[in-house]
This record gives sequence, structure tokens and C-alpha cells, in this order.
Amino acid sequence: MTARNFFSKLEIKKIVAAIQEAEKDTSGEIRVHIDNFCKGDAIERATEVFFKLKMNETAQRNGVLIYLAVKDHKFAIIGDEGINNVVENDFWKDIKNDMTQSFRNNLFTDGIIYGVLRCGKKLKAYFPHQENDIDELSNEISFE
Ligand code: CA
Ligand code: CA
Repeated sequence: MTARNFFSKLEIKKIVAAIQEAEKDTSGEIRVHIDNFCKGDAIERATEVFFKLKMNETAQRNGVLIYLAVKDHKFAIIGDEGINNVVENDFWKDIKNDMTQSFRNNLFTDGIIYGVLRCGKKLKAYFPHQENDIDELSNEISFE
């Protein structure tokens, strides 16, 4: 099992579809990245990936990254400063807790999809979807 085959093709399709769905609610841009290993802190690594994917270049600074290291069983969810400046402190913790429940039951696809859709719903209040929305960041999953 590696980052690339952790999810089946069908599961990947479902996750990408969820990202498309979530982005209908919000101008926020959601991405999923999957690593094999994460030696250190998941949030630190997620931040590194965030910049590598140029997720800090959205107009409203409202990118969200769901990060998963499949061999080290770590995950993180982080958002850009546009979001962090306006949301309540437990914004990410909330979503993460629910995702953790799914992961514990080995429901990884469900957990990711839940997190993605929940992000869309929560971001809607702060960053509603605009008619002239641009898909600023790819909806495809990125891999190590
Ligand atoms: Ca967009
Ligand atoms: Ca997108």
C-alpha cells in the first residue's frame, strides 16, 4: 500500500467530485494531498506542501489543504490566512475530530469526503461562492 494506491480509482473519483461539490458553496479552494511518510509534525509538513502547491496564491487567501500520510497514519487540515483571520479558533479542530472518527473505523474515503464537504459548508459563511468564480486550484488529488 502506497500513497498512490491507497485509494482506488473510484474512490479518487468520488473525492474529486466532493471537492467540485464543495467548491459550489464557496470561493475557497480545497485540495487533498497524500504522502507516504510524514516524519515530523503533520501540520508542518502540510504547510510545506501548501506552499509547494502554490495554495497561498489564491486571491482571497482561502485555500484549504487536507493532508494525509498513509504509512505514518498522520493527517492535518490547514487553511490560508484569509480563512484563519476570520474563523473561530476551533474551526479546523471540529472538522478534524469528525474525520478522525471515520479514519478510526477505516472509512478513509468517507472521512475525506466528509471533511471536504464540511469545509465547503463552513466556508460558505465567510467566502460565499461567486457567480464569476474561477477554479484557482486543481481539484485533483496531489501525491508525494
Ligand atoms: Ca474557486
Ligand atoms: Ca478547485
